[in-house]
Amino acid sequence: MRRTARTTSAALALTGALVLGGATTAGAVGEGPDYGGNEVVTTSILSTYDEVVDFLRTQDAKQDAMELEVIGQTVKGRDIHLVKYVSDPDNPTIFYLAQQHGNEQLTTEAMLHFIKSLGSGKSARILDDVNILMIPMYNADGAMGDVNFSLDDYIAKGERHLTRYNADGVDLNRDHVARLEPETQALHTNVLQAYDIDYMIDLHHQGTQSRVDGDLVSGSILYPTTPDADPAVVEGSKRLGSIVYENVDSTGWGHIGRYVGGTANTIARNGIAAEYGISTLLFEMRGMSDHEYAPYVLGQKSNGYLIRQSVVTLTSTAQAIADGSIETADTSFWDTLPEQG
Ligand SMILES: [Zn+2]
Repeated sequence: MRRTARTTSAALALTGALVLGGATTAGAVGEGPDYGGNEVVTTSILSTYDEVVDFLRTQDAKQDAMELEVIGQTVKGRDIHLVKYVSDPDNPTIFYLAQQHGNEQLTTEAMLHFIKSLGSGKSARILDDVNILMIPMYNADGAMGDVNFSLDDYIAKGERHLTRYNADGVDLNRDHVARLEPETQALHTNVLQAYDIDYMIDLHHQGTQSRVDGDLVSGSILYPTTPDADPAVVEGSKRLGSIVYENVDSTGWGHIGRYVGGTANTIARNGIAAEYGISTLLFEMRGMSDHEYAPYVLGQKSNGYLIRQSVVTLTSTAQAIADGSIETADTSFWDTLPEQG
């Protein structure tokens, strides 16, 4: 795929709180404004790496149930942070991964909201019955545009660009077999092999122009399609997808299609399911934060509903695992879920 571009700093967490609190974006959904050359795409509203780390440290100090672990470093030496809520090793465990592609940042912003919500109130109660692991900003070098290749053609304005690739120009989501990059090695050694994980959602952003039934989609989902995954594992992925579909599509602003993806084990959705028996789900939110290819980039007016969609995804799946309802989730919708076009 193509390279992405730059990003910048900051006030994501605040933006998210406002978004979540209001009825912001009801009309913006699938038809949310895209770049089209007419709207400024700025990265300055996005949290920087330093801001994400500051946020995580602050929450770690406030939240007894939360633990923060550094699982390794990026090519450029940035610490990769794993957020852990493990109340009982016997609980089922879900792992949420954001920003394998550094230019796909609204999922990270949503994760920060989710982490904050787990620190108080009703959300905190689910932690008795589910263990949650999260990496909010996996490809931190790409997210900060701190890479060893040119980003001159990238579209976004702001203090930084964001790029799909890591600093070496490698697509980390094609490195899950060879594991040549330090980010991939850290993930496999210190997360996937270190914890007993049942479910995983790999959070991404796709282009802006995909449609289902004539309408632009707000996102798309897919389970492992590698022939190497155990059918029972794939069934778990389909149940996970069912929870996402039910909760996002019913919002009135969510419109979900089936992602069209490959079968290679180099891709996390496939390789992690095959190697570790983890029921993985890919969720692609609409629109990237930066790119050199205009149709992939979404203007910031759509940020509200996209962050909210990611928060719904995180919250509803953790809840369904905690209360056991995921065990009986109806997967029949997959039989008729249209592929996006
Ligand atoms: Zn991606």
